[in-house]
Amino acid sequence: MPIPTPTAERDTPFDVAALAQLASQFFAALPGTTPLPVASAASVPSPAAGGLNLPANPLPPGVPNGPLPQPSTTQFAGLGAGVPALNLVPSGPDQAAARAKPGAAQLPHAAAPNGLPDSLVTAAPGIDGRLGGVVLGVPQAQAPAQPAAHGSPFYFLDLAAARPEPPALELPGLGLPPLDLRSPARTPFDVQAIRRDFPILAERVNGKPLVWFDNAATTQKPRAVIDRLVHFYEHENSNVHRAAHELAARATDAYEKARSTVARFINASAEEIVFVRGCTEGINFIAKSWGDKHIGAGDEIVVSHLEHHANIVPWQQLAVAKGAHLRVIPVDDSGQIILSEYQRLLGPKTKLVSISQVSNALGTVVPVHEVVAIARRQGITTLVDGAQSVSHLAVDVQDIGCDFFVFSGHKVFGPTGIGAVYGRKAVLEDTPPWQGGGNMIADVSFERTVFQGVPARFEAGTGNIADAAGLGAALDYVQRIGLPHIARYEHDLLAYATAAIKPIRGVRIIGTAADKASVLSFTLQGYAPDEVGRALNEEGIAVRSGHHCAQPILRRFGVEATVRPSFAFYNTCEEIDRLVAVVRRLARA
Ligand code: PLP
Repeated sequence: MPIPTPTAERDTPFDVAALAQLASQFFAALPGTTPLPVASAASVPSPAAGGLNLPANPLPPGVPNGPLPQPSTTQFAGLGAGVPALNLVPSGPDQAAARAKPGAAQLPHAAAPNGLPDSLVTAAPGIDGRLGGVVLGVPQAQAPAQPAAHGSPFYFLDLAAARPEPPALELPGLGLPPLDLRSPARTPFDVQAIRRDFPILAERVNGKPLVWFDNAATTQKPRAVIDRLVHFYEHENSNVHRAAHELAARATDAYEKARSTVARFINASAEEIVFVRGCTEGINFIAKSWGDKHIGAGDEIVVSHLEHHANIVPWQQLAVAKGAHLRVIPVDDSGQIILSEYQRLLGPKTKLVSISQVSNALGTVVPVHEVVAIARRQGITTLVDGAQSVSHLAVDVQDIGCDFFVFSGHKVFGPTGIGAVYGRKAVLEDTPPWQGGGNMIADVSFERTVFQGVPARFEAGTGNIADAAGLGAALDYVQRIGLPHIARYEHDLLAYATAAIKPIRGVRIIGTAADKASVLSFTLQGYAPDEVGRALNEEGIAVRSGHHCAQPILRRFGVEATVRPSFAFYNTCEEIDRLVAVVRRLARA
């Protein structure tokens, strides 16, 4: 059926002038905005034959009518007042003009912040191509020079050079004097400045400032990630790998740069990184591809009692399909796995050990280096679920020695719907594709298909391109603060919260391992966990109450649900005080 060409204003699918009027009223109502001049109905030209005729864009005075808008300057306030803001200027025609601005010096480093074209990076005036002055609690002058992460200057901010060596971390026990968490001069970073990087932390809930203690479920996103997504859709949006046009090149660069950032973040190489939706999809991918090939009847798969359902159910499904068996490493009463029992479980039939590095329900940090080393000595393949570790501990997959490592972007300050599987190259090459379609093929006929090499052969169809770039921005952000600093701060935050909650009458802490990260799971006598959750919510405090998708471990401790505050580096003692006050009030009632 022919599509009628609009010939008069009333034929257009919407009234442009009325829309502009509405938009103007909306923006005028926002504080601090200059309303755009609105084209009157009379000034809107009639649609010309063949298409809608939109009015010329009426820009406010002073805004240049160039081809590209200036992207907003991305500031990592959390890095402290001493860090000059980056000056991110657009590529293309505006770039030369922006560079010509007095004082805008280009960084000499090799690469731009994740996924942003190299051409976007310039340094603010007067810093001689190097950023410094991070608020770290140690005067900058004392900072010893350090090589960039993994010995490569790839990452555009050579902040490591300006950063003092973080104190040696031996979590727990730490062996270090506790931090003074309320004093920015004594913490590894300025937490108030960090908080300003996260717009949502300024929200109010039930009239109170939001306290986000549901970080184990998902983390909040810094402005850098939000800006990165906007930048992608405004300047780069295209499908990847398949077209000879400029935007395809930009999008492909962004996507592949994000892959390199993920690889660097966990000390892998880019060809060992497969993008997936998240941890759950990652484990399912491994079960359905590697598992389908390598697990047979009578074989054994070992998991621990601590696992999230995402690291139980796919293996159960595989075991049922193959006639294999699931074996479970027991935990002691503190919630730590029992290594001697683990060793006893392994045998000639064990084909896989799949284990969380940090328990989402209890916070236990599992000694995965030992777990993996023991398995490897017997030639057993290993998978580490890093969903709860990547945002709290520095992860080095070479050092751990695992064959697979999986994590979700949204738990490490990145977007939802994107995550990564690391697979050791030789192991990935021995893994068949699991989904078929576009992107993962080299050649297709009706007789046969030739697959791409790794990792492309595991990424059928259009991936989550924008969110991959967002994940890269999140990992860059985390690396700028430094995971050793984060671990140090969060360790003391958790110790502070534990000491405050523990003595409250009726409180039972579930999970008391010596080595824990982020999570403080507890029950309160006389209250169901969701009653505590609701009382906290009334005060603007978000915690998770429930079974945390880890029913086996909660049942091991005789409970079906707990209250689970979980902390991140943007949380503070003052926020913990607010939580403790509510729990105390409930306990007294
Ligand atoms: N593994 C652990 C330890 C988790 O905590 C979670 C989520 O909470 C997952 C796996 C699943 O992650 P996602 O829901 O992002 O796929």
